[in-house]
Amino acid sequence: MQLIKSLVEAQKALFHTGETLSYAHRAKALKKLQRVIREREEDIFKALDADFKKPPFESYVSETGYLIKEIEHTLIHLHEWMRPERVPGTLLSFPSKSSIYKEPYGVCLVISPWNYPVQLALAPAIAAIAAGNTVIIKPSEHAPAVASLLDEMISGCFDPAFVAVVKGEVEETTALMSEPLDYVFFTGSPEVGKIIMRLAAEQLMPHTLELGGKSPCILDKSANLSLAAKRVAQGKFFNAGQTCIAPDYVLVDHRVHDEFVEELKKCVTAFYTEEPKRSKDYARIIHQKHFNKLKAYLSNGEVAIGGEVDEGELYIAPTVMVNVDMDSALMRDEIFGPVLPVIRYSDEAEIVPFVRRYSKPLAMYHFTRNKTLKRKLREQLSFGGGAVNDTLEHLINPNLPFGGVGVSGLGTYHGKFGFDAFSHAKGVLEKPGYLDLPLKYPPYTKKLSIIRKMFKIS
Ligand code: NAD
Repeated sequence: MQLIKSLVEAQKALFHTGETLSYAHRAKALKKLQRVIREREEDIFKALDADFKKPPFESYVSETGYLIKEIEHTLIHLHEWMRPERVPGTLLSFPSKSSIYKEPYGVCLVISPWNYPVQLALAPAIAAIAAGNTVIIKPSEHAPAVASLLDEMISGCFDPAFVAVVKGEVEETTALMSEPLDYVFFTGSPEVGKIIMRLAAEQLMPHTLELGGKSPCILDKSANLSLAAKRVAQGKFFNAGQTCIAPDYVLVDHRVHDEFVEELKKCVTAFYTEEPKRSKDYARIIHQKHFNKLKAYLSNGEVAIGGEVDEGELYIAPTVMVNVDMDSALMRDEIFGPVLPVIRYSDEAEIVPFVRRYSKPLAMYHFTRNKTLKRKLREQLSFGGGAVNDTLEHLINPNLPFGGVGVSGLGTYHGKFGFDAFSHAKGVLEKPGYLDLPLKYPPYTKKLSIIRKMFKIS
């Protein structure tokens, strides 16, 4: 672990030289990263294929293409984000000038999961670099081809004292967390999130936690069923369901339940043919343990669509389940795979209490043409973010904050929200010397009533 210690020391030393602070340094680094993502795109696709057979289309949309756009957006706005923000003063401090300066934290650690192993390692790193920090990326050990490639790509274009990859598992992450880092950005499960938060608390280290949960998808009877089925199936089976914001379950009006399941069946066949296992557009499960967990869910209800598994290939068909056991693991855990329970409700009043049985989710989706219900659910349910009449798409708009609430996470990023996450907002008041009212200085005799009046009008 001496290597980790030396790396953190080297990053601290570089940060303290002030080299990472200039606009020119940040922009140059971001362009370099963008170039290497473009140049190594084929290798990235191959690594994602080796790790879990991720289809190139999905790899482009959610990994390389996504990151290239995120850098583009950052470069367009970086000047404006870096500019100190002038804010109004108050009569009490007149005359003065107040400004908010965006200060980088210093050495930042990005801990990432396996499910979008390139995007979730590099998107926070983009924000950290844009904000003027140095970065250490700890990729997931469960996507080893991607972890090795990231290591090669990053060490090929950056001085490790500025941006570095540390491969490893619990031991390495724990060792990193015991160093005097200035910020940690964690994406992963709520269970490990608690461990990271505890380790961060030891040093009162500022942090962002991007976690998970059971993201509901509500479908009321006003919804366009065939369109909803298409968008739910796409959002659920993309990346073989291993998406933190995938619809976890669908809660549907009982009057349209059967028709919706029929529509889902048509979509699965249209997307992946009668034999999804042979489709080049469908990913595999990341590892045996996760496969076993998902396979066990298949006995927690009635399989309406799919249900086939192939252990040798870590394949689980796009699966829809009905009449599920509400006390089973399927309805307790975050599913995080291609198994979609569809549950009926008979009265709209059941929706809010149903969703509230679970901790606050990362996403919520609502398919509807009913304006009143749309507003009611948005106001009454707490969730990280979401979409109406679609799934997943809120994630790709860099003008929207992305993050959870409560158990699904702490803090947001993407676009300016990412820049702000990796910056300390330093408020500074500047006062000229030409006017120095005696009011604030002792002795206070007769001054209390004047200051009271000033507090009232300022
Ligand atoms: P995980 O929590 O098991 O692992 C995430 C990272 O933490 C990995 O790099 C891993 O090496 C490290 N880690 C694991 N155990 C650790 C420990 N005891 N101490 C220190 N570090 C440890 O998560 P995962 O299985 O890779 O990913 C799945 C989870 O991530 C799901 O819950 C999903 O919802 C969530 N997720 C959230 C987002 C988001 O943006 N909010 C995105 C993707 C995934």
